[in-house]
Amino acid sequence: MLEDVNEKCAVVGIFGHEEASKLAYFSLHALQHRGQEAAGISSSDGKKLHTIKKRGLVMRIFDEAKLKTLSGSSAIGHTRYSTAGDDSILDAQPVFARYDLGEMAIVHNGNLTNAEEVRDGLIAKGAIFQTFMDTENLIHLIATSEKEKLVDRIIDSVQRIEGAFSLVFLSRKKMFAMRDRFGFRPLSLGKLPNGGYIVASETCAFDLVGAEFIRDVKPGELLIFEEGKEPTSIQVFEGVTPKHCIFEYVYFARPDSKVYGQSVYQTRKDMGKELARIEPVEADIVIPVPDGGVPAAIGYSQESGIPYEMGIMRNHYIGRTFIEPTQEMRDLKVKMKLSPMTDIIQGKRVIVIDDSIVRGTTSKRIVKMLKEAGASEVHMRVSSPPTTDPCFYGVDTPDKDKLIAANMSTQEICDFIEADSLAYLDEESLLRSVNAKEDNYCTACFTGKYIV
Ligand code: AMP
Repeated sequence: MLEDVNEKCAVVGIFGHEEASKLAYFSLHALQHRGQEAAGISSSDGKKLHTIKKRGLVMRIFDEAKLKTLSGSSAIGHTRYSTAGDDSILDAQPVFARYDLGEMAIVHNGNLTNAEEVRDGLIAKGAIFQTFMDTENLIHLIATSEKEKLVDRIIDSVQRIEGAFSLVFLSRKKMFAMRDRFGFRPLSLGKLPNGGYIVASETCAFDLVGAEFIRDVKPGELLIFEEGKEPTSIQVFEGVTPKHCIFEYVYFARPDSKVYGQSVYQTRKDMGKELARIEPVEADIVIPVPDGGVPAAIGYSQESGIPYEMGIMRNHYIGRTFIEPTQEMRDLKVKMKLSPMTDIIQGKRVIVIDDSIVRGTTSKRIVKMLKEAGASEVHMRVSSPPTTDPCFYGVDTPDKDKLIAANMSTQEICDFIEADSLAYLDEESLLRSVNAKEDNYCTACFTGKYIV
């Protein structure tokens, strides 16, 4: 069974810059929120690829000396998130291989839905796999393609995979960026300040390295980067309505990014405003669950006129904690991450805003925490619709039986989390907030309407 190891990841590619690996490193810093399990960079000096990848945070993996070994004017990078999966470093990216045309490295964000089928076919023909990653399929498809040139092998290979993919390929002389036909996961193109190009999962990486946003890579488009040339474009898949992942706006992307052409922060604020219009409630203060709920809570407060307060503090320095066994210790673990501002909350009717409820455990703990801090009423408002269905295109959501909204009504969830009231944003209002046109978003996690 293949593991879903490419969920919630980030990719970056730098081409035509003498400090390519350093820029890839800074970009991965900006993209760290998309995955904290492992990270890696491959660079090319024109003759050879160099790769470093490891488990852990970007800043722990690389230092000046390591970046020096990643020489050359092109580099690709990846941060990986995975809940389940192999601890093996083999499952970190870039995936690197030597083959008949030389050397290549690949980074991938998304999830291939026909990965098992393709893998079984390759194994039947004698391929030997080293990892559990669906991305490894691509290496084999490219290596065994009968086409002569790498670009044609890439086109050949992406036509044999299905699902969600934003990919960056690096060869010794070229870089390629490709987005699946539906454009599920974001991928943007920018120009570096001293020449050269960048592609990245989110534009917050551009801001850090001083790059100028050019445009999004189009769904189904392959971009080819070659020395001394402007990037060239091949539309591999044509005439498909895009299906952008709406959850990027809800939770995943950083608020300072522009995703699918619009500001994540502004979009989240609009979701909060919509929520205030359709689900008003009398209260004294509006507070966010940090950090995800912040923009929507600002929007809710502005629309309702109810003052915004910081009612919960988040400690940003909590990594994994291993104290689990007793209930008391579990509560302590939550408080280590989120603690109530008692002076703000005591005696108040509180509206608490979060971006989503998945299993329901976070909301239950938060309501309990606010009540213990003296809130007279706690009204939970969620800036997205109930999460009723798992994602097969790259967002890490649990199986349906663990999704609370797949198994309980809103009133039952409200009783379970022990809130005074609970309300969600509805699908129509969410689509309005993201300026949806002609069904161009994938909303499967809220509707169960899957595309592939
Ligand atoms: P839960 O306790 O499962 O209901 O978790 C809900 C919380 O997890 C919310 O505060 C969300 O901001 C956050 N969240 C939503 N989706 C994800 C995800 N794919 N990975 C990690 N956290 C998430």
